[in-house]
Order: sequence, then C-alpha cells, then structure tokens
Amino acid sequence: MLHERLIDALGADAVKTAPEDLAVYAFDAYTTGRLPAAVVLPRSTQEVSAAVRIARDCGEPIVPRGAGTGLCGGAVPTEGGVVISFARMNRVLAFDPARRRARVQPGLINLDLSRHVAASGLFYAPDPSSQKISTIGGNVATNAGGPHCLSYGTTVNHVLGLEVVDERGDVFHTDVDELGYDLTAALVGSEGTLGIVTAAWVRLMRVPEAVRVWLATFPDVESASDAVSAIVAAGIVPTALEMMDRIAAQAVEAAFHAGYPTDCGAVLLIENAGFEDDMNACESALARIARERGATSWRTARTQAERDALWAGRKGAAGAMGRISPNYYLQDVCVRRSTLPKALHAVDEIARTYGITVANVFHAGDGNLHPMLCYDKRDRTQVQAVIESGNEILRAAIALGGTVSGEHGIGFEKREAMTEVYSTADLATMARVRDVFDPARALNPEKIFPSGAACPEVKPQRP
Ligand SMILES: Cc1cc2nc3c(=O)[nH]c(=O)nc-3n(C[C@H](O)[C@H](O)[C@H](O)COP(=O)(O)OP(=O)(O)OC[C@H]3O[C@@H](n4cnc5c(N)ncnc54)[C@H](O)[C@@H]3O)c2cc1C
Repeated sequence: MLHERLIDALGADAVKTAPEDLAVYAFDAYTTGRLPAAVVLPRSTQEVSAAVRIARDCGEPIVPRGAGTGLCGGAVPTEGGVVISFARMNRVLAFDPARRRARVQPGLINLDLSRHVAASGLFYAPDPSSQKISTIGGNVATNAGGPHCLSYGTTVNHVLGLEVVDERGDVFHTDVDELGYDLTAALVGSEGTLGIVTAAWVRLMRVPEAVRVWLATFPDVESASDAVSAIVAAGIVPTALEMMDRIAAQAVEAAFHAGYPTDCGAVLLIENAGFEDDMNACESALARIARERGATSWRTARTQAERDALWAGRKGAAGAMGRISPNYYLQDVCVRRSTLPKALHAVDEIARTYGITVANVFHAGDGNLHPMLCYDKRDRTQVQAVIESGNEILRAAIALGGTVSGEHGIGFEKREAMTEVYSTADLATMARVRDVFDPARALNPEKIFPSGAACPEVKPQRP
C-alpha cells in the first residue's frame, strides 16, 4: 500500500523499495540504523508534501536526508519509515546579488552555492569541512559550523527564511524580517524534528579585499591553546583559528603535502580577512602574541595556491586519518577557550588510559574540540575502548563547564547525554516546542530527546 501510493504520487523512478537500495540510506557518517520502509527522491515541494501525507496515512515516520555526512546518526532511520532524500532538489532557485541573498533547494551542496555566486564577488560563509558534499538542508538542520564560523557565525546567522513542510504535509514559510516569533532560528538546528526544509533564503557575503593565512608552530598543544586565548583576549577575532596536534599534522602532511610542519607539538592555522591596509598590523600583532606564548616558528602563506593547499589539508584532515588507522571515531565537544589546555590534557589522559591513539584537529578559536580516536573496528576490545573513552571525553567536557556537541548535533548518538547538560524542565520545554510543530512525533523520531527513565516525560510516545 505504502509503496504503491508513493509510486502513484511521485513516479516509479522517485521511489526506492528494494533492500539493496534501502541499505544505502540506512547509515550516515556515524552509524548504521534500520532499513527504511521506502526512500523517496522528490523533485518539488509538492512532492515532499505528498510523500509526507502518504507516510502519515500509512503510519510511517519520516526521516529527512541530505548527503548523509552527519556524525551523530541524525539521518539514520531508527524505526523504518520513509526517508526523504533531497538529492534531486539541488538547485539555486533565485539569486539577488544586489541584496546579497539566494533562494536554494535543500539538496544543494554547500560549496556549489559559493561557486554559483563567485562571479558576483560573493560567497556563502558557513563552511563545514564537509562542504564539498554536505547539503544546505543538512547544514540548516544541524546549524552547521566550520572553520570560518569563528568570525562569520554559524548557519543560523546566514539563514534569512525557510519554506517548510510540516508533519501533516502542509507548507509554511518563515522570514527573519517579519515581526513575531523568530521561527527561522527555532527551525535551524532542529535536526529534522520540527519540519522538513524544502527551500531556504540564505545571506551571502562579499569576498573580502584581502585574505592572509599564517602557520605558527608550538612545542605542545597547551602553549598553542594559550596563544588562542591570548589572541582573542587582545581583541583580535581572526576569520579562522584552527589547531592540529603532531599526530594530525603528520597524517595531513602525508596525505596532502600541504606544507604543514610535522616536527612540532601543535600547529595553529590562522586566517584573517578584510582590508589590505589592515593586514600588516594584524599580522604583527598575531605574530607577537604567538611568540610571547612560545611559538617556535611563524610563516605566512605567500600565494593563493599555498593558502588553498593549507586549507585543503585542514578540511581533508578526517580523510587523512586513513593514513594512520583503519577506523576513527570523531568526538565533538565544546569548552570555554580558557579551559582548552585542561580539556586537551583530559583527552590525552583518557586516550592513554585506554591505549588509544588520538589525533586532534579542531576549531580552537571556538573551543570546539574534535578528538579523533583511532581504532580497528575488527577488534572488539578496541571498539569497546573507543566507546568508553568517547564517553569519558564527553564527561570531561561537561565537568569543565562545556557541552556535549559543538556543531555536529545530537541526533541518535548523543540523545541520552542531553540529560547531563539540561534539566528535566529544560527538556520538557523543548519537548513542548516539538509537540507544537509535530504533535504526532512522526518527524525524525528517536532523535535529540533522551529515552528511558532518566526523562520519562519527554520519552517519545507514538499516538
Ligand atoms: C569529514 C567530515 C567533516 C565534517 N565537518 C563538519 C564541520 O566542520 N562542521 C559541522 O558543523 N559539521 C561537520 N560535519 C558533519 C556534517 O557534515 C554536518 O552535520 C552537515 O551539516 C550534514 O549535512 P548533510 O547534508 O550530510 O545532512 P545529513 O547527514 O543527511 O542530515 C543531517 C541532519 O539533518 C536532517 N536534514 C537533512 N536535510 C533536511 C531537510 N531538508 N529538512 C530537515 N532536516 C533535514 C537529517 O534528518 C539529519 O538530522 C562533518 C562531517 C564529515 C564526514
């Protein structure tokens, strides 16, 4: 019944039902879930509405899906259901260079948007390291960050309005310029639990007149962290302030030959953008602070090719881990910048205790750590060690006043950890918001909200 109705409404080529096709949609970059009952690839908002109505009539939950690069099981079906893939809704619908905004479909690849508007001297600022493959819809749903979000802000700061299909299949619009509640901000980061984004108006930024990229090396991650805090405390907010430890730099250099030093304890990749006239003074101030905090070298990337190579290395760091380990688990926690040295020390201690190699590549300016725990998934002992050390890193971040995700979201993976940072009353309030948008709890169930006795009043209850 479900399959026939979906095929009638969307056409046979837009509906996948064979187990081998469904299997492709059962996982994301974090984990594998259950097979969905069906996958649909709509071409329009009307087709999304139709698919939602049919799924609801047939009692199936709905799981929106972008590129599946999520790192917390957000796009993974947990109860079967209908996966809505936006692979065919990937166009720029409107581009207004004068007002610096574009209206895009959710399946548009992040980097393709910047490519589309580049000739007008504009770009889309949120730049997750997955930007070559992740979609605007997925970025909106996770409020994606990225290296340049330190000064430009995360996705929520760049979404001006949304077109959304609700859990009944009806379409509504939000607009940050209108009066009333800011529903755009409520929907950004809601991980597909409040509505399905079918179009977004996004803000574009002018390509800056000048961009400089510098590399500073340090004997250890503690001194590099001190430099990060000192730079921001001096009133300088660079466009990006990223850190790599020795293990990460070695893996990246082996993979990309980008020019990262491999014989130091930590590397800071610093970028600033703005007016050419300001750049020399900025560089002097940054270099002085770095030296005062123990930097052993300071280098300026002289050419665009050099800058591109350094960024390709940084953004490809996760892929480079294949050089040193068959598998890695990428943890995502956030702490105050001033506690970075303590947090990194805790990560190191935990990894030692469990005998795990850890590589750190992260958004240091935001205090957003990404320890990559290396392991071999064929070895059960290593798998267990990674699970336990990942949990201990979460607890260490919380103990330092930090939180359980910096940018990757909660999804399925971290929903139980929500009780560690939010009170029952906080979670119940969030659950009431969800119930306004999705009273039947049909949109992306088993995500964000904890299950079980720890928080009974927000336990998903199917009607
Ligand atoms: C190598 C690598 C590097 C990464 N670097 C970063 C980084 O720097 N910063 C960062 O923030 N993240 C990063 N990520 C994580 C991931 O890329 C982001 O979370 C990204 O926003 C997910 O986009 P996606 O299109 O793959 O979405 P998916 O993984 O398909 O989905 C993510 C979530 O969004 C929901 N969703 C998708 N489309 C819609 C829609 N149209 N309407 C409603 N809900 C929807 C899904 O249900 C799910 O909950 C990285 C991942 C990898 C693998």
